[in-house]
Formats: sequence, C-alpha cells, structure tokens
Amino acid sequence: MNVVVIGNGMVGSRFVDDLVARDPEVHVTVLGKEGHLPYNRVLLSSVVAGKTAPESLAMATATSDRVRVLTGVPAIDVDRAARTVTDGAGEVHPYDRLVFATGSQARIPSIQGVATDRGLLPGASVLKDLDDAQGIVAALPKARRAVVLGAGVLGLEVATGLAARGLSVTLVHHADRLMERQLGSAASQIAAGSLERLGVKVITETSVARVLDRRGVLSAVTLTDGSEVLTDMLVMCAGTIPEAALARRAGLPCERGILVGADLASPADPRVFAIGDCAQPPEGGSGLVAQGWDQASRLVSRWSNADAPVGSAAEVAEDGADDELDPTNVVRVKALGLEVVTMGLSGKFDHGERELRAVRMSDPAIGRFVEVVVSHGLLVGATVVGDKQCASELSAMYTRMVPVPSDPAHLIIRPLAGAGRPAPVSAEDMTDDHTVCQCNSVPKGRIIAAIDDGCTSVDEVAKATRASTGCGDCRSLVGDIIRTCGVPEAAEDSKVPALAGK
Ligand SMILES: Cc1cc2nc3c(=O)[nH]c(=O)nc-3n(C[C@H](O)[C@H](O)[C@H](O)COP(=O)(O)OP(=O)(O)OC[C@H]3O[C@@H](n4cnc5c(N)ncnc54)[C@H](O)[C@@H]3O)c2cc1C
Repeated sequence: MNVVVIGNGMVGSRFVDDLVARDPEVHVTVLGKEGHLPYNRVLLSSVVAGKTAPESLAMATATSDRVRVLTGVPAIDVDRAARTVTDGAGEVHPYDRLVFATGSQARIPSIQGVATDRGLLPGASVLKDLDDAQGIVAALPKARRAVVLGAGVLGLEVATGLAARGLSVTLVHHADRLMERQLGSAASQIAAGSLERLGVKVITETSVARVLDRRGVLSAVTLTDGSEVLTDMLVMCAGTIPEAALARRAGLPCERGILVGADLASPADPRVFAIGDCAQPPEGGSGLVAQGWDQASRLVSRWSNADAPVGSAAEVAEDGADDELDPTNVVRVKALGLEVVTMGLSGKFDHGERELRAVRMSDPAIGRFVEVVVSHGLLVGATVVGDKQCASELSAMYTRMVPVPSDPAHLIIRPLAGAGRPAPVSAEDMTDDHTVCQCNSVPKGRIIAAIDDGCTSVDEVAKATRASTGCGDCRSLVGDIIRTCGVPEAAEDSKVPALAGK
C-alpha cells in the first residue's frame, strides 16, 4: 500500500513512525513544507525565553527504507480522481491512501502596514515554527522593547519569555481580560498583577491598529485607542487557523478545518484522512498535540485492523461526555515566573441545570487565586494562578477523576495548608491506570513496565514509552515513579525532553 502524508510536523511524523512499525508492507512518502526534520513545536516559546536550545527539539523519525521524507517540499495539488499528489518541485506521488497532517497557520490580524510585498514588516512576526523562533532570538541583541499582541496562552508565554530576556514588554489584548476563554475577571487581574511584577505592561480592551517603521524596520505601533507604543519587535499571538487550503482546493468538505468522521476519514472520500491541527473531527479540534497524537495512534490501529485504544480522549468525547470531564481539558501556561493552570469549567461558565458548587480564594497581594468547581463528588473545574503545588494537586484530582469531598472548600484548604491526609497524587499512591503523561496518554503501569525492563532514567523511560516528550510537564513525576521503584540514581537527565520513538 502506498501512503502519502502531507505535513511532517508533530502529528504527521508520529503517524508515520507508528505506521511503519506496525505495517511491514506499507510504503510512505512524506511531504514537509518546512526545511527541518520534525521538532517539538510545543517548546518554541521556551526557545524564545532562552530555556530550551533549538537543537534539543528534534523528534525521532522513522528510519525505515520504506519511508521517503522530502523536507522543504510542499504539496501543491491533490488530484483525487487520479489519486496523486503533486509537490512544489513538480514530482507526482501516487497514493492508495492520503493523510493530511498540515497543522495550522498563525492568524495575522489586520494591522495597517504589517504585511508587505516581501512578507511581514521586519521586526514583526508570529511564533508558529522554528524559523519564527530563531528569527525572534536573532533579533534580541538589538531589541530593547517588544509588543506582544494577544494574551492567550501563547501570548503570555512569549511576553514572559521576552521579559526574562531583559526586554521591556507591552502585552496588548483585545478582550477585557487575559485568556478570556479560560479566566474570569478576578483571576485575570491577579495574573496581570504578576505579569506587571515580571516587567510586562498589560493593556486590555485595545488592539494594534497600525505599525510604524523607520527605514523599513518596525519602530512603533499605534493602538486602536490612538496611543503609540515605541517598540523594536511585534510578536502576534492572535490564534491559529487549521491549514485546510489544499484540501479545500481538492474538493474535500471543510469548515474551520478538514471535516472527518470518527474514523478520521473524509466523508467525501474514504481514501483521504486528516489528523492533527488541520482536522475537524466530530468532537471538534482542540489545537493541542495530545488530540493529534491520539488520532495518529487510532488511525494506525484502525488500518491495522486492531482495536482502537479504549478510552482515548476522542472516544470519550464521541460518547457524549461533558467537556468538563474530559481529562485532557487542562490548559497550562508554560511561562517563566507565572503559574496559570485551568481545567474543565473555568472562567465564566454556565451553571445550567447542573448541581455545581464553586469556591474561590483570591489573594491579590501575593498574586494567588484558586477556584474549584465540584459536581456530584467530582472536581469538574479549577483555576489556579500563582500556586504551583495547588495546581499540581488539583490537576491530578481532575485528570484522575478521583472522588472529592462534597464541600469544595476542602480542596482549596487541604493542598494549601498541607494538612490532613495528603491528596492521593504522589507517585506511590497512583494506580497503574493513572495517566502520567497527558500529551502521550501514558499510564503509570506502562512506565513501571519500562522500568522493569531496565530503564533507570527519565530519558530512558521517554525513549521506551514517549512519556514526557510533549510539553514535558510530567518529567518530575516520571522521575518520582522511577525512584519509588527503588532506582535511587534516577535523574531528570537533560533539562529538555528528548523526543523519542517507541
Ligand atoms: C509556540 C507554540 C506552543 C504550543 N504549546 C502547546 C502546548 O503547550 N501544548 C499543546 O498541546 N500544544 C501546544 N501547541 C500546539 C501544538 O504544537 C500542535 O497541536 C501540534 O504541533 C500539532 O501537530 P500537527 O502535526 O497537526 O501540526 P504541525 O506540528 O503544525 O505540523 C504541520 C506541518 O505541516 C506542514 N505543511 C502545511 N502545509 C503543507 C503542505 N501543503 N505541504 C507540505 N507540508 C505542509 C507545516 O509546514 C508543518 O510543518 C503549541 C504550538 C505553538 C506554535
């Protein structure tokens, strides 16, 4: 079987790696527009912040001679009748099955002067790929000031990262509060206070209307309220749009993304599939890598006639579970000096008919805010600003769906005070089916099995199981699990997750 995969990003490359390992007959051609081999895009904001070296983002790729990878070569045309894909160099690739894994593109807001004949005005950029990150880093030595447009998760990460690099940063946001999809006003105000202490000036309810240049290079921006901000750099973090243009041209049904069914196939063509950020499955696209990796693994399983993994995030959603009970619905800002984590119900939410009990604790003086929402003995939502320990306790309770006290106040008081019975989230207390790595859906039992097979370090476990190779948030937990297995020298190894094959 000949498979063509369009897109060599985090999901496309994972799919190919798994497919070739599972199917000894398959031949795969991968077309990748970027001139790089696959890398961990999730950590690009850490590159901007100076926490992660670009070289360490490389992902393992399939090395089989049944895989042909073309880098720096875009697919430009799909002929579904002839079952061929034409690439930018004019080569025509026949396929039996075609997989779109084209990801998403950064949304460029309409700002006067930002788009020029030769691309974005020098000094203005987005942060979507490695070239963007390296361009921002290369500009740092000559930059003193930066404007970041958009205070979603990425905007906060970029703003704090640039502030940590010593720039004077202005964060401009159109809504009345930061991360308005996740945070309510009180939590947003506390996060904004923390940002100000980190050297980030926050301006809400306005946007960038115009960029001004000096000799063709960005020198200032004009905001929609008429004020002017001098700047050497503008980073636009205004969201993403699924990359569906090629699929649309090929006559495939698309809305925001490429429409696919629960089987990840296009309803218009059973030979064409879409996975990752470009896809719009029945449960909707999350824009998070865990969903794409889950889709990649399910597609390989379906093609191999094996059962799809039970309990995958998508299947939970297909079964009609509430969004707030989706254990992958945890949003974490990977920012230097700013802890913001939300899960399930957060910000402004509709109580509807449900019996929800919510309790919040707000302490602006020290930049701490915690809100928990409990329903029928389960934690169904939480917002934490400025308290790492509490965030980790609550997200463990949320993702494990453990029964919690009916009085939600206990959930705030216990983790903060450290009193009473510790929450059942230590490495030792976890059951084998507890998911340790949310990005890769790796349960504790699989990590224990890898340790039993001889893994003694976090990097070795990552190579064997893929745990910690996404956002890297679970690295210390993996280290704890290794230690509880009596491997004392377990170290967290490199600071940066090494992305590994299976
Ligand atoms: C800065 C940043 C931080 C992020 N942080 C997180 C996070 O903390 N947690 C999280 O879960 N997710 C995060 N994400 C999102 C995560 O990176 C994506 O969900 C993930 O990369 C999706 O993988 P993908 O393969 O679908 O798309 P991508 O990784 O974007 O790969 C798509 C690839 O397809 C290529 N392509 C497009 N069109 C064509 C064509 N016509 N021909 C050939 N190739 C083509 C693109 O160039 C690209 O290389 C972040 C993203 C960014 C940019």
